[in-house]
Amino acid sequence: MAILSILEFPDPRLRKTARRVSKVDDDLRRLIDDMFETMYAAPGIGLAATQVNIHRRLFIADVSADQTEPYALINPEILEKDGVIVTEEGCLSVPGYYEEVERAEHIRVRFENRDGEQVEMEAKGLLAVCIQHEVDHLDGKLFVDYLSEARRQQIRKRLIRDRRHQSTADVA
Ligand code: ZN
Repeated sequence: MAILSILEFPDPRLRKTARRVSKVDDDLRRLIDDMFETMYAAPGIGLAATQVNIHRRLFIADVSADQTEPYALINPEILEKDGVIVTEEGCLSVPGYYEEVERAEHIRVRFENRDGEQVEMEAKGLLAVCIQHEVDHLDGKLFVDYLSEARRQQIRKRLIRDRRHQSTADVA
């Protein structure tokens, strides 16, 4: 397994639309394993292939406190949404920022699992929020897109500035 590097906002590659996965094979399962290792190490509760610069429709999620509910969703499709929930969202691609975002409280999603079987699942609360956030990634969308333009630009500028300081520190 390997830790993959995660793209960070405002990297334009986060804006790409991911293409469908045509075959669930061992290469894809290896990628999923690497993504889990990367997400747990970060740590995070969800990671889309887009974030590791692989533009295929798949993501992983585990919203449990003890890494016991891993899900890999391949070619996910949200079939139904209802209710409203507002939570503070963060993102491994927007490190250090947490902002309130409104999502559907309950969803039904269809996807292929890591064995290539088609599955339908209901999700609510945090898992539903996480799935909606990750599906957005596959469409090149980030949670900061739900914020005001002013707030998004502020986060963008601060992240660029912090990164510049970081690389200076690395050299020194
Ligand atoms: Zn994210």
